[in-house]
Amino acid sequence: MIALEVSNLVKKYGDFEAIKNISFEVRQGEIFGLIGPNGAGKTTTLRTISTLIQITSGYIKVYGYDVKKEGSHVRKIISYLPEDAGAYRNLTGKEYLEFVAKFFTKDKNSLKKMTDKGIEIANLNERINAKIDTYSKGMMRKLLIARAMMTEPKLAILDEPSSGLDVINAREVRKIIKESVNNGKAVLLSSHNMLEVEYMCDRIALINSGKIVEVGTPKELKEKYQAPNIEDVFI
Ligand code: ATP
Repeated sequence: MIALEVSNLVKKYGDFEAIKNISFEVRQGEIFGLIGPNGAGKTTTLRTISTLIQITSGYIKVYGYDVKKEGSHVRKIISYLPEDAGAYRNLTGKEYLEFVAKFFTKDKNSLKKMTDKGIEIANLNERINAKIDTYSKGMMRKLLIARAMMTEPKLAILDEPSSGLDVINAREVRKIIKESVNNGKAVLLSSHNMLEVEYMCDRIALINSGKIVEVGTPKELKEKYQAPNIEDVFI
């Protein structure tokens, strides 16, 4: 089953064409990575899929729902974690997860279930009851990943999910993401970290100057470019 279909997507900012006619698909149960240098168009692509910015031309479908025409439905089945996401700093981690859960359900039982799931994913132990203000960058990121995943999105869209994290936190975040696709979800993420992508992604698309240069499994791309390491594919 196709979780995400991006077809002939073009996005212009004024006269500047940031995305130049790209097409790719993400399958259910797959982690798909968008990889590329700064300014390649990764965030722009993720934001169009998340219905946050308008498409210039082409179309995007999430589980068959057109992002342009059925945006409100799409928003119910996706979650989007921006790279620079923040949370209300004078709430506790738990209060923040509850606050977010209220946007998704009014029912008390499901609200508790969703929040508990978030607490479990965040894995912050007793610090979940401390003010977000006191969190380290890694704790904050785990809380935000928990927020994105606790709603059980059918497609999670994560912009640089582990950027700026130390080895241990980055590993935990990767584990959370990997586990989330086990039960039939799909993940689209962007990253600069090629080694991370090789470890996590089933397939990747290399994007450069708004164009997709290659799509394939990390193994296929390494073979094609006779690159010993995935990082060498780019050089
Ligand atoms: P990074 O890895 O640095 O986050 P990226 O691959 O996510 O980069 P985008 O943020 O999508 O790249 O930017 C793609 C291009 O579009 C860049 O040249 C950027 O300057 C331009 N751009 C992005 N947002 C806007 C905007 N709101 N108005 C004008 N140009 C923009």
